[in-house]
Amino acid sequence: MSEQNFQNTLYTNDNLFILNGLNSNLVDLIYLDPPFNSKRLYSTPIGKKQAKASFKDMWNWQDVNEAYLETLSEKYPALTNYIATIGAVNGKNMMAYITYMTQRIIEMYRILKDAGSFYLHCDTVASHYLKFVLDEIFGKNNFRNEIIWKRGTMKGAKAVGKQYGRNHDVILYYSKSKNYTYNRQHIEYSEDYVRQRYKNPDNDLKGLWTDNPIGTRSPESIEKLRAEGRIFKTAGNTERIKFYLSEMKGIAMDDVWLDIDPVNTMAKDNKYPTQKPLPLLYRIIKTSSNEGDIVLDPFCGCATTCVAAQQLNRKWIGIDIEKQAVSLLKDRLSDDAGMFSDFVNILTIPQRTDIQIVEPTKSVKERLYKQQNCLCNGCNTEFGIYNLEIDHIIPRAKGGGDYYENYQLLCGNCNRMKGDRPMEYLRMKIKAREEMLNKKFIFGE
Ligand SMILES: [Zn+2]
Repeated sequence: MSEQNFQNTLYTNDNLFILNGLNSNLVDLIYLDPPFNSKRLYSTPIGKKQAKASFKDMWNWQDVNEAYLETLSEKYPALTNYIATIGAVNGKNMMAYITYMTQRIIEMYRILKDAGSFYLHCDTVASHYLKFVLDEIFGKNNFRNEIIWKRGTMKGAKAVGKQYGRNHDVILYYSKSKNYTYNRQHIEYSEDYVRQRYKNPDNDLKGLWTDNPIGTRSPESIEKLRAEGRIFKTAGNTERIKFYLSEMKGIAMDDVWLDIDPVNTMAKDNKYPTQKPLPLLYRIIKTSSNEGDIVLDPFCGCATTCVAAQQLNRKWIGIDIEKQAVSLLKDRLSDDAGMFSDFVNILTIPQRTDIQIVEPTKSVKERLYKQQNCLCNGCNTEFGIYNLEIDHIIPRAKGGGDYYENYQLLCGNCNRMKGDRPMEYLRMKIKAREEMLNKKFIFGE
C-alpha cells in the first residue's frame, strides 16, 4: 500500500491477519478499544489437557493464534514468561486475553510510524497487565500517560457490593519514539473559575478580564502594553496589566478527562450501543495527528474512530471481524460525515509491499540448506538437499507471506505432519514420537 493510492479502508477479517499484511511505518495514530468482556473470547473451552496447568494450555484457545506464538516466544522471551505468570496469578482467561492482545500489539507497533502515537482503551480489570506488555514492546521511556476517562456522573456508577463504584476507563498512551506528534489541547475554564478570577468593573469593551502585576517587564514591553490600553491603576495607585478572558486558550489538557459524557446507551435514537463518544476520539485525533495523517482502529466496531477521523480530514483504516461493521459504517459516514462512498471494504488479507517477495527458488533452497546446516528444521536429522522441502513457517492461510524470513526446510515426513499448522504442533508431535521410540527401547531390553 503506497501513500499515493491510499484509500480509506474497512477490512473485514481477523485483525491479526490484516495487521500482518500491512506495511511497516504506515500509520500515524492507532486507537483501539478491544472487546474485553467479549463472550467470543471467553466461551471457548480450554481443551482436553485442562488438567495440566501449563503455559501450553492457552494454545488451545480459539482466539489465540498458534502460528504467531512461535514469534512471540522467540522475539519476546520476557513477555512469554510474564504471560505465564499472569496465568498463575489471574488464571487462564486473563492469560489468553493478554496473549491475544500481545500478538496484535507487536504488529501494531511495527505498522506505526516513528512519529506515531498509540492509545489503548481498557478497563481497570486488565489495564495493569496490558501496561507491562506495552512497556516491553514500546519501551518504558515511550510511556506518555495513563489517561483516566470518567465515564459518567455519580448516578451512573454501578456500586456493586462493598466497594466504590467503578466509574472510569483507562486509556494507555504511548509514543513510538521521542519525536512524536503532539498538538496540545485546551479545555474551557469552569464557570466557577471564571467567576472567581475574571471581572469587568470598568465595562471594558473587550469583556471579562483579570490582572497581574507588571513585574520585571522591560520599559519597551510596558509601553507596548500601555499603547494597547492594558495598563491600569489600582486604588492604591499601582500599575497592573489586564488579561482578557477572550484571549485565553483555556486550561492545558491533563490526564484526567472529566468533561466528556458517555454516549447514552438508553437513548432511543442510539443505533450503536457500544460506541465511544465522538468527542473522546476528536481529542485523541487532534492531539496526536495532523490533517492528512492516517488513523488506524483495529477493533473499529461501530466505526466511531473512522467517522471522527473522516470529519477531521484524516485518512483512516478500520478493521473488524464482524461484517455488520460495514453497514454501520456506511450509515454513520452518511449520517455524521456526509462522505458515504469515500471508502473501500476489503475482505481479503493484504500483502505487504515493503518486504521483498522471494519466490521459493532453487537458490533460496540452497541458502536455507546452508543456514540450517543440512538439517531438517523439524526433526533435526541430516538430509540431502533433494530430500528437503521449502515450508512457510507462518502458513499463507494465516497471513504468512512469500519472503525469506518465512521459509524453512523440512523433510518430507515433517512437512506432511505439520501441514498448515504452526511449528509448535510439529515439535509436540516429534517429541511424542521420540517418547514412543524410547519406550520401545525399554520394552526391548
Ligand atoms: Zn524432519
